[in-house]
Amino acid sequence: MARNINARTGDVHRAVINFTSSTGQTWTEYEGPYAKPGAARARLTFWANHMAKSGGTATGYVEQAETTWRRLDPSAAPGPSAAKARQHLAKGTNAEDCPACRGTNPPYPFLCPGPNEEPSR
Ligand SMILES: [Zn+2]
Repeated sequence: MARNINARTGDVHRAVINFTSSTGQTWTEYEGPYAKPGAARARLTFWANHMAKSGGTATGYVEQAETTWRRLDPSAAPGPSAAKARQHLAKGTNAEDCPACRGTNPPYPFLCPGPNEEPSR
């Protein structure tokens, strides 16, 4: 997903999407950040139309956040969020969806080895 964050002001937007499946299961997902609220609203429209095809619903709203920019210490090690981003998903997940497997060309059938494996670099 291409992202174009508003680097000048730091204002970002996200879509908060409340899903209901045709069987009544409900869950919430967040998509973004986006530089413009229209991009987040477009995701609400997309999911409403997509869920309607299977008899479910998707409704939601757009949130805005103001980010605070600070100079990064170039000697700082990657933070916990960076390490977490490289953790494997559940064992057997499609490796293409796993941030730790992505780009590592795992052996066929391309399944994630699971969170107990060392993160790939
Ligand atoms: Zn993995």
